[in-house]
Amino acid sequence: SFNADVVPQAPEDPLFGLMAAFRRDEDPKKVDLGIGAYRDDNAKPWVLPVVKKADEILRSDPNLNHEYLPIAGLADFTTASQKLILGADSPAIKEKRVASLQTISGTGAVHLGALFLAKFYRTNSQRTAYFSDPTWVNHFQIFKNVHLDYLTYPYFSAKTRGLDFEGMVNTIRNAAEGSIIVLHACAHNPTGVDPTQEQWKEICKVMQEKKHFPFFDCAYQGFASGDLAKDAWAVRYFIDQGFELCIAQSYAKNFGLYGERAGCFHFVTSAASDAETTVTRIASQLAILQRSEISNPPAYGARIASTVLNNKELFAEWEADLRTMSGRIIEMRKALRSKLEELGTPGTWNHITDQIGMFSYTGLSEAQVLKIRSDSHVYMTKNGRISMAGLNTHNVDYFAHAVDKVVR
Ligand code: PLP
Repeated sequence: SFNADVVPQAPEDPLFGLMAAFRRDEDPKKVDLGIGAYRDDNAKPWVLPVVKKADEILRSDPNLNHEYLPIAGLADFTTASQKLILGADSPAIKEKRVASLQTISGTGAVHLGALFLAKFYRTNSQRTAYFSDPTWVNHFQIFKNVHLDYLTYPYFSAKTRGLDFEGMVNTIRNAAEGSIIVLHACAHNPTGVDPTQEQWKEICKVMQEKKHFPFFDCAYQGFASGDLAKDAWAVRYFIDQGFELCIAQSYAKNFGLYGERAGCFHFVTSAASDAETTVTRIASQLAILQRSEISNPPAYGARIASTVLNNKELFAEWEADLRTMSGRIIEMRKALRSKLEELGTPGTWNHITDQIGMFSYTGLSEAQVLKIRSDSHVYMTKNGRISMAGLNTHNVDYFAHAVDKVVR
């Protein structure tokens, strides 16, 4: 019989625990800088206007039904997703070198990729995945669940609050040949620190020398800079350099489709005369994994994204919405930095505007994070990460004062 005594109590997910603590706090001045979801200037969730439109189009379709999607998902969605991340005129698409499956948002894409690699990647040799230190914490659990070993490469320099480029490259260079290197395509979570294009080129070169396998996690395309091509630059550059790689693509942030779980997994093979048959074989195995895990992906979020991605006018409206979100975040970065500098808060604050995307690594210590929570009712994760989207014109000064108080 099943012995329930062997099931230990697991710790609460720290981020979701933080959200619960925030909800319990009755102070009217409380500020939520924990969860990575976009908020408007009134701290409210924002349904993108273009998503509202797509929703209306879908709902007015008398033929809309709730049938199953195919195992690989909605074809219009996965082909549009390829174009979005790889570029519409990508040779990889033209040469049919890409296998794509719709997944349960970015998490599901990371999982499907990890599962596939666990089953087929260098099964006869030692293989290790490398994550940035720090990284999105779910990477650890997802890879652990599929029994892939992992280590980390240095990423964040506490001193400069920027990229530890030397540490990163040295570790990647010294990793066993053929390691899996997980890279954040843009808007690194949790630090907000991205390599420059010159640095990406260097990383690419070292990875080529060591025949490493890149696994790009792309959860913020268009959300980071407001420019879809710019945010996909690193992925496209690696493919141009001839890499075989995989990509986990999320539509949670850039479409605001968090709970709809729209995402895509892509496996791109390198150019070879038999690339098309290789991709067909890979796709067939991915389909088996998908079938056993989720059977087929959820339809509605993918339909919304697909409606927008495949319509020129709606696509342009989406780009405007992306600029609204990224622009507001960039404004908040500027406002926070200038307020801290105006207050003469000890330390340097240029990292706030140097960093990009949803998050900023403030450099606050765990003790300071806990103090700011009890003194000022500001909620952020213990590593000092703040979600920039939680700041707005009504609370940014309050937050700057709270930081100032705790730093002094
Ligand atoms: N990868 C990274 C780096 C992320 O930051 C996130 C979301 O926070 C995800 C993947 C996946 O998110 P979702 O499953 O909601 O698409």
